[in-house]
Amino acid sequence: MNVDVKIRYVSFDGASVVVSLDEKIMKNGEIASFVLKMTGIGDDIISAVDFESLEFCDNVGAIPVCFEDISRPPRVIRKIRATRDTDGRISIRYGCKFKPARRNPILDMGIERNGTMGAGENFLPSFNREKINLNIGFDISDLPENCSYVWTYGGSGSFEVKGDVLSSSYFCVGKINRCENGNFGYYWLDDTVDLSETAAMAEKIFSDFSVFFGDTDEPYRILARCRETSVCGGTAADRSYAYIYAPEMHPSKEDLKLLFAHEIVHNWTTMSDIPYGICTWYQEGIADLYSTLLLYRNGMLTRDELIFDLNSKSRQYYENPCVSLPNDQLGKLLFKDLEATTVPYGRGFFYLLSVDRDIRMATDGKKTLDDIVKKLLSINKPDNEAWLSELEKIGLADARAKFDRMCSGEIIAPVLSCFDGADIEITQTHSVRRRTGEECTVWEFK
Ligand SMILES: [Zn+2]
Repeated sequence: MNVDVKIRYVSFDGASVVVSLDEKIMKNGEIASFVLKMTGIGDDIISAVDFESLEFCDNVGAIPVCFEDISRPPRVIRKIRATRDTDGRISIRYGCKFKPARRNPILDMGIERNGTMGAGENFLPSFNREKINLNIGFDISDLPENCSYVWTYGGSGSFEVKGDVLSSSYFCVGKINRCENGNFGYYWLDDTVDLSETAAMAEKIFSDFSVFFGDTDEPYRILARCRETSVCGGTAADRSYAYIYAPEMHPSKEDLKLLFAHEIVHNWTTMSDIPYGICTWYQEGIADLYSTLLLYRNGMLTRDELIFDLNSKSRQYYENPCVSLPNDQLGKLLFKDLEATTVPYGRGFFYLLSVDRDIRMATDGKKTLDDIVKKLLSINKPDNEAWLSELEKIGLADARAKFDRMCSGEIIAPVLSCFDGADIEITQTHSVRRRTGEECTVWEFK
């Protein structure tokens, strides 16, 4: 499918979009889909698309369409279907109204003081195709002279990309501050800070991690949103990451190191997490483990910082009142219960450490978790079954039983076999769970 998209930013608070497709759509076929709103993330994020303004036409004239809203927690997807067969090129036109920048997660296209930045899913369509040939054009001629724009994949031009590329990438327009080097870019709109040193640190993490994950020379962009917030956190999209910091309170480089590393790992290690919660242990566990591990290996995390990080992960996991809930139940509590939301991070982290030890023992140290992680990168849409099958292939006979115990919520004690040279001692102590005050065991790292 060839898709032409023209995005004209008419001001910082709105855009007009024209899309045209060269594919014939049969009656009841899906022309495009939009994320209508996200549910279950605090107060809902509503689409910036002005649905009243949507027009569809082809050679015959206006195409009558019907909307079908499908719940895909935490989102509602609005599918748009043609109610007659189409004839010739299909064009879609609509306007968008952006709103003030929201808190995390960054799934909105949000207005700040000097522009607007955020997620494509808030205002652009997705096409139900594996690949599309996208010809994209940006028009900022209505904006003041010193304005520019950013898109995860670059600027105006032609791209062979996934059908949902527009809705799974980030956009920014306005008076943008930027640090770019090759395909790496770092952007912010707030003119009261200079983030160039933070950008240089993020670029080093990205380029070092790219070597481990065997990345080709594809773009990666980080966007910083400035708005009132009590915690600095962010959201990863395809080949990009956006985070929020409070005005005049940009975190230090040191504070952002592990956060950026975690988000950058997400860029490569995905597992299809549907229904939600089934593979979160891997998504978040791998991101937590490899952010720490690769920073330690490349000398960006000292032994003291490593110990501090292990101890905070330990307390977060073992003192969690939801630590024993099974994976599927944790998925249902995502964003509704902050404690439940964080369990898969610690569960994945300590399970993966334990599996790393098992792999080393089963293969006489010839293989490690690194080998499995890299193997999964070569598999299209890996899932829990792919993970188990790789473990069984290298001779981990009880991999499945151990995995089932992890999924059901069994507490996993820490073992450390991958932090070479750190020489860390683990001791067991008593503590209490948050919220319930129930007695529990916590492990300390020294
Ligand atoms: Zn994450």
